Amino acid sequence: MDNFVLATFLQGHQAQPVKGVLLAKNFEQFAGSGTFHRGIHPPERKHFSADAPIEVIPTPKEVIIPLQQHIGAPSKPLVKPKQEVSYGEIIGDNAAFVSAKLHSPIFGVVQKMAVTTLPNGRHVQAIRIKAQGRQFTEEENYRECMGGRWSKNVIGYDPDEVTRAINDAGIVGLGGAAFPTHIKIAPGKKPVGTLLVNGCECEPYLTADDRLMQDIPDAIITGAMLAGFAANVKDIIIGIEENKPDAIEKIKNAVKGTEVKVAVLTTKYPQGSEKHLIKAALNRTVPLGGLPSDVGVAVSNVTTMVAIARAVIRKMPLTHRVVCVTGAGIVQPKNILAPFGITYRELINFCGGLTKDEARILSGGPMMGFSFSDLDMPLTKGTGGVTVLTHDDIKKEKETTCVRCGRCVDVCPMNLVPARIAVAARHRDLNMAEKYKIRACMECGSCAYVCPAGLPLVQNIRVAKALIMASKTN
Ligand code: SF4
Ligand code: SF4
Repeated sequence: MDNFVLATFLQGHQAQPVKGVLLAKNFEQFAGSGTFHRGIHPPERKHFSADAPIEVIPTPKEVIIPLQQHIGAPSKPLVKPKQEVSYGEIIGDNAAFVSAKLHSPIFGVVQKMAVTTLPNGRHVQAIRIKAQGRQFTEEENYRECMGGRWSKNVIGYDPDEVTRAINDAGIVGLGGAAFPTHIKIAPGKKPVGTLLVNGCECEPYLTADDRLMQDIPDAIITGAMLAGFAANVKDIIIGIEENKPDAIEKIKNAVKGTEVKVAVLTTKYPQGSEKHLIKAALNRTVPLGGLPSDVGVAVSNVTTMVAIARAVIRKMPLTHRVVCVTGAGIVQPKNILAPFGITYRELINFCGGLTKDEARILSGGPMMGFSFSDLDMPLTKGTGGVTVLTHDDIKKEKETTCVRCGRCVDVCPMNLVPARIAVAARHRDLNMAEKYKIRACMECGSCAYVCPAGLPLVQNIRVAKALIMASKTN
């Protein structure tokens, strides 16, 4: 997240720290209360794109496929310049344990390798492919592109076969983490009894998950059943914030006749963080520095469930995703089915372009997204949204000194002391920052949201975390 954006867009919204625990409706059957301690209520601003049906964007003339779109080892190219490739053909792979395969999202011809920059500032090698011939998404509506109708019948599949299909399709967590899914769901040393499917989409503005839940709920349930089967879990629960009533209704209808349960959760940021989702739904606390598997849970996003259903049942690799292009700085906000490697410029142009008062473009939402200016960067697997803010949205308030109000502590969902971590980070006192558990910070931005002094808390924390990482690898 660009702290300038956070410190400007989000300040002045009369931030109200949330204290205590609220009881979500219809939550009797779950161990959790439907919410978690601390957190904030930023303005939702979903209205820009919430009612926009998913549209298929025309195939671009060229795609740029970064070799590193996931957590783990970057893929190695398996194709050479001038080579013809088909839609869905594997073009990158790595034998490392943690990595993910890459597939061509179009029919075309491979061009010279390139270096591209991602919105988080990383420079990565990329495979360029020039489109050629009739394309997969032409003359199809998005339902066919997403795999057509779904029967929710997963009988006859072998768990290993499901895990293998997920690996072969190059599926990673599409909620943003981009961790390879076949590793996450494969039964490991720690027994996992519950698959928690994340339909919270708590980041302001973004609506891609909401639209998928409304439009193809059967694909989500089918994917969840397959993933639960592969992970050998007893329970599958889909957690959705209560500010998505249409999605809740569609998902509740879709789970009828299955053992999948729906947990309606209190709307609060960052409810979509896996640790807070686990707390809200199951009343289990992931230890500091721990993983969901430490408390017997695997968490995965609704969009990832669609990708799993497509991969296992339709043999379709992960080549496209639904991305929400939204905000007051976009002429016509939309939810778009787009191929990986398409540029942000093409996505924005498909939405009628930028408005005259556009001021800041973010990959993701305003809380955790990255601000960038090069519109020719490619869309990658982990990006579910593009938010464009206007000058009105980001009126900057003056930065002053810390007034020791303690608001940042009141809202930090990780129970940290953000003011102290940020001071240590600003002075590059990495030992002190570690002492205050900087690594537990999930960079949610809640502290900066409420800080009346306009301090770049998350920006400082992020820089110090990068320095700590660099010091460990040197
Ligand atoms: S310190 Fe980190 S986890 Fe805590 S509120 Fe700030 S950004 Fe979020
Ligand atoms: S950093 Fe900001 S929110 Fe935290 S104590 Fe200081 S002034 Fe208050």
